[in-house]
Amino acid sequence: MLETSVTKDYDIVIIGAGPAGSSAARAAAQRGVKVLLVDQKQHIGVPVQCAEFVPQWISRYIHFSSTCILQTVETMVTHLSDQTCHEMKSPGYMLDRSLFDKELSVSAILSEARISIGTKATGLISDGVIVERGTRKEHIKSKVIIGADGTHSSTARWIGLPPAKTIVALQYEMAIPNSQNHVDIFFHSDYEGGYAWFFPKGRTVNVGLGVVPSKTSHLSDLLNDFLKDLKEAKKISRVEILSRTGGSIPCEPRRQTLFGNILLVGDAAGHAHPITGAGILNAVIGGEIAGRIAAEAVARGDLRYLENYEIEWRETFGKTLSYGVSKREFLEKNWNKADVNFEDLIRKTWVGFKEYYKDRKRR
Ligand SMILES: Cc1cc2nc3c(=O)[nH]c(=O)nc-3n(C[C@H](O)[C@H](O)[C@H](O)COP(=O)(O)OP(=O)(O)OC[C@H]3O[C@@H](n4cnc5c(N)ncnc54)[C@H](O)[C@@H]3O)c2cc1C
Repeated sequence: MLETSVTKDYDIVIIGAGPAGSSAARAAAQRGVKVLLVDQKQHIGVPVQCAEFVPQWISRYIHFSSTCILQTVETMVTHLSDQTCHEMKSPGYMLDRSLFDKELSVSAILSEARISIGTKATGLISDGVIVERGTRKEHIKSKVIIGADGTHSSTARWIGLPPAKTIVALQYEMAIPNSQNHVDIFFHSDYEGGYAWFFPKGRTVNVGLGVVPSKTSHLSDLLNDFLKDLKEAKKISRVEILSRTGGSIPCEPRRQTLFGNILLVGDAAGHAHPITGAGILNAVIGGEIAGRIAAEAVARGDLRYLENYEIEWRETFGKTLSYGVSKREFLEKNWNKADVNFEDLIRKTWVGFKEYYKDRKRR
């Protein structure tokens, strides 16, 4: 039995303390408005559902301490099923994602945002959000609501949006005999619409595989076969799993991300890259835009100002996402087609090949 509801008042309530939500909370609170960040988790950042790679240029957008970095990466090596491989510069960091997420939340708190963990948003009402924490149900009043609640966003569902288009992934963390300073990407016609990865973190590695949802039932077998290949190639010595994770990654941005006083951001808005599934960078950038614009709208007392949110995120990374969507459509349409050379298809649709960028340059 839930206890009586208590009404609280905020300018901005943010649902979800992942990279998008915490970045939004920090940007908004820095501007002096009253911000509440809620997350259903008992530990921010845990469990990790991520391969933990970010491009180095993320440092242009946020500061995080070096303790979040497990190792640096110089290049990306893409392996095709005809045994050819291609190397491309890809400077990046392998993060300790749980520390990273916690640091972003700390920055939000130090900017005067309030945070409430173990607090699940359970519904929207005309002037705010309903949340449940233990046996308490609370009605939190808010001028603006930011849905930063991930791929299976409840906020999006409450607005009436359909489930997001996704890729489904499974990942193991394992020990590796030899360290390396590059990430490996593997394509195979069985990994429908997706790929396998081998992302090193010093003495361990994140080994994972993602596919279109219709092939989810094959994921575990595909990953186990992939581990056998890795063993043969001596990239792992034995199959001993340290941790297992996975999840769904959106692969298409939402057409609309502003609904009255409600904004969607990060995976809830489908802001991950449609081809790679990388979503941390855009969650951080989009979160900052959402928080800043929301705070400005509150300060002006004019919620029409929120329209600038969609304009700004589209200007910043909208074209990259649209281009990725066109590549994904082409990839999925031509996957396993008898008259299409698989390797050529991957060269045209994977970011690790210059062919990927060809049409974009001509625009
Ligand atoms: C297997 C896998 C590997 C990936 N690898 C990479 C990678 O290497 N690099 C990369 O850039 N991206 C990667 N991604 C994508 C990346 O993890 C996401 O894009 C990123 O986490 C998006 O951040 P976010 O803040 O939008 O959402 P999330 O990080 O998902 O955070 C959402 C938060 O909302 C909370 N929440 C949800 N519902 C509620 C509710 N009703 N009430 C309260 N709280 C709620 C959740 O607890 C969660 O903390 C990967 C994803 C997966 C699944």
